[in-house]
Amino acid sequence: MTYPTQPKASHFIGGEYVEDTAGEVIEVIYPYTGDVIARVHAATPAIIERALQAATQAKAAWAAMTGTERGRILRRAADIMRERNHDLSVLETFDTGKPLQETTVADATSGADAFEYFGGMAATITGEHIPLAGGDFVYTRREPLGVCVGIGAWNYPTQIASWKGAPALACGNTMIFKPSETTPLCALKVAEILHEAGAPAGVYNVVQGMGAVGSALITDPRVAKVSLTGSVATGQKVYAAAAAGLRNVTMELGGKSPQVVFDDANLEDAVSGAILGNFYSTGQVCSNGTRVFVQRGMVDAFLARLTERLGAVVMGDPQDMATNFGPMVSARQRDIVEGFIAKGVAEGARLVYGGTRPDRDGFFLEPTVFADVTDEMTIATDEIFGPVMSVLTFDDEDEVLRRANATPYGLAASVFTSDLTRAHRMAAGFEAGTCYINTHNLAPVEAPFGGSKLSGVGRENSKEAVMNYTQTKGIYVAMNPVEAPF
Ligand code: NDP
Repeated sequence: MTYPTQPKASHFIGGEYVEDTAGEVIEVIYPYTGDVIARVHAATPAIIERALQAATQAKAAWAAMTGTERGRILRRAADIMRERNHDLSVLETFDTGKPLQETTVADATSGADAFEYFGGMAATITGEHIPLAGGDFVYTRREPLGVCVGIGAWNYPTQIASWKGAPALACGNTMIFKPSETTPLCALKVAEILHEAGAPAGVYNVVQGMGAVGSALITDPRVAKVSLTGSVATGQKVYAAAAAGLRNVTMELGGKSPQVVFDDANLEDAVSGAILGNFYSTGQVCSNGTRVFVQRGMVDAFLARLTERLGAVVMGDPQDMATNFGPMVSARQRDIVEGFIAKGVAEGARLVYGGTRPDRDGFFLEPTVFADVTDEMTIATDEIFGPVMSVLTFDDEDEVLRRANATPYGLAASVFTSDLTRAHRMAAGFEAGTCYINTHNLAPVEAPFGGSKLSGVGRENSKEAVMNYTQTKGIYVAMNPVEAPF
């Protein structure tokens, strides 16, 4: 079978596709069939240098444009992304295996939202005026950082390339984006669309490669900032490398987020939240609420309704709009998740749903639910990054808040209750950057997204992202003679 997925070339630099076949071959595997659907080459030192030169050369002219001009280009890119949503969604499905039913509404559309939002905001990124004694004053300029490096994980390749690119470019920076080697295709389309929309050559570049390419980029003295979406282990390495050059960082890392369901919650909403927070994208979402704490009085009803609704899972061809549960991104990731399931069983958790690999092609794994999970079990402490839900039981609010926070991670947390004051008390008490009341896992561009503790540094989306892609310059203006002691 032939697939319409081979890109024109591996990299997009200086406004054009660029190839260097001397780079190591990266095979792109379609998770539904295991077929190789494209081949790209990892960036060689020559490609990395070319990208750094292109982004460095482009930055002064891009920063000198008005925010209105930059914003117009970004908004045009948003329009093109929406017009091409179907084709981009099909590509995202080939790249990741996520069902088209999801990618049609969650990937290029989310990228377009980011370009529209930050495009609209670009002209409003300004400094302030600070009056001082005697008519003196200070004004501030909110200036771009310079060349930014974006490094992406494999679960949302279009969205991550856009969530990093949109605020960076709106603020007047240029970007070199390195996708995950597992999903290298979609970011190239983002670059293509930005340049079609009018972004000057070198403003947004994409280079392929493994960790070594990311590492070479972030240690280059021309680079001012790195924004990573990835695991905590990679985050620690990248943060340390960036620290050597005192570079600005944004780190969107892993999690083991709690979802707390009190027995006064709406059962249907709590089950829907748990499904969204554990099985969307086959569980490969960083902010998933994988520790579902259910108050003792509701546990039986919750598990009964959850397993009933899991009967509606449609596993199959991800390009079929009826499919609502796709394969995992890779055989490797499926093996890792299977290892966690085996540990859950071995450590005494009660397997109430799934747990096995269906007898079919592709990297499928059944949605899996464990009950009677205790806090110290591996499935309750470690990020699994797959379709595995752990249900834990609790009795009262103080206890569950303490247990919910007893993790080194702090990405997301949610509470389901009909008690208004308890909902806000819990939200205030959660040690997490992104909290929800009576829902889980929504990430609109208007809202800040990111983690505390080991889950990250800085925030993506919302006005907060502007703070993460600019620096403040203060300028003191004297309106009086200079007084000196002698
Ligand atoms: P990894 O941490 O393995 O990789 C992330 C990216 O970093 C990849 O592009 C990888 O390249 C690159 N990389 C690896 N080592 C280095 C290095 N030393 N220097 C520079 N770059 C490097 O994560 P995964 O791709 O496996 O994604 C899953 C993880 O991402 C999960 O832990 C998940 O929680 C997290 N994540 C967090 C999100 C958030 O917003 N908080 C969102 C989505 C995922 P390559 O893999 O090509 O070698």
